[in-house]
Amino acid sequence: MYRVIVFIYFSLISATSYSWWEKEHQIVAVIAEENLSLEAKQQVNKLLKGRKLSDIANWADTIKSQSKWSHSKRWHYMNVEQGETVSDYEVLVGGDILWALEYFYGQLNDQDKPLDQRREALMFFVHLVGDIHQPLHVGKASDAGDNRESVKWKDDSRLLNLHKVWDGLLTRSSLSPQQYAKKINYSSFKERAIWGQASFEDWAQESLELHKNVYKFGVKNKGKKIIKLDDTYQTQNRPIAEKRILQAGIRMAHYLNSAFQ
Ligand SMILES: [Zn+2]
Repeated sequence: MYRVIVFIYFSLISATSYSWWEKEHQIVAVIAEENLSLEAKQQVNKLLKGRKLSDIANWADTIKSQSKWSHSKRWHYMNVEQGETVSDYEVLVGGDILWALEYFYGQLNDQDKPLDQRREALMFFVHLVGDIHQPLHVGKASDAGDNRESVKWKDDSRLLNLHKVWDGLLTRSSLSPQQYAKKINYSSFKERAIWGQASFEDWAQESLELHKNVYKFGVKNKGKKIIKLDDTYQTQNRPIAEKRILQAGIRMAHYLNSAFQ
């Protein structure tokens, strides 16, 4: 059984290496920036040499194709077996998003680490906080984060995959990341307090639980191999994707504020 799981796991690495599209990561980072404490802002500014969180939010995706970083692809997601919850899941040391978040947040907090190392840790952390909030980055092991080409999106004639729909088609708009952030950056004090308390595992479990919405295709698609997603799917799910972006931004700020006190 163990060998089978290992085989499936490694065979899925290339298939599941997508992430939220550039813009979604930038929106998360803009929201985080708006919620940083003064101290955290200064420290981030120092670490990033004047760049903003939104400038580096996609760095971790841009390096994945380089051979020296090919091992980092698996840090962008995790695959949970059918019927498992995140608490049943065994973290793959060196090999999944939960491990990577803990690892890089630890490096970021370690004042004894050289600045370059902490800068790199910050750049990974900022990206991965976004990724783990995309429900299909906590995928079912059986479907490889749903990267199969089995979906038609509204009036687009191409065959796409569900992962792409959640990566950016749901939230596609002509707004800039700053404008989009402004549009969705509303949360109550109570919401922010609750969101801030959640652990990395909680974030993953929330993504997993959202699969009930992600895979709700409506009666017309019942038993169909090619799933047609229409305006109804978008109307139902865009608010969910936007809430995940907002939560990711608020939580990123919360963690950075406590790292840089
Ligand atoms: Zn990613």
